[in-house]
Amino acid sequence: MKLQMKYRCLANQQIMVFCKLKFNKNRVYVSDSKLEQIAAEQQQDKEFIDIITKWESGELPFEIGQSYDVRNGVLYRIVERNDETLFLPVVPRSLIWSIIGHIHSKIHHLGYIQTLHSLYGLYYAPGMRKAVKKFIENCPVCKSKK
Ligand SMILES: [Zn+2]
Repeated sequence: MKLQMKYRCLANQQIMVFCKLKFNKNRVYVSDSKLEQIAAEQQQDKEFIDIITKWESGELPFEIGQSYDVRNGVLYRIVERNDETLFLPVVPRSLIWSIIGHIHSKIHHLGYIQTLHSLYGLYYAPGMRKAVKKFIENCPVCKSKK
């Protein structure tokens, strides 16, 4: 069913618009203050400015363009997980560390897998696994528990 939908999206512009509208109904689970922070950092980053500009003007190749969304100037990655379509704000490198720290302490310093899973439902960042591993290895609270 999903494949058929994508194929139709490719074949017909009008249905493509329909797909987008359907995606847009999905909720974002990150707080407004975090989104503001992410937006501010994205706007400092040349790579992000470039992707957002191209996305807005339709210059990105279709396959790439359809995996992103831009809302209120924030770049989101559209991710299919467990049959659900998630809109995950793309975290700039400069914020990865503080966002991992925020989630990791929010779940009371649970381990690597739990921290990674909590992040996966909220944010998108390339290199997330490595960053989480490194963060936990260096977390003073987790170290003291050992
Ligand atoms: Zn910890």
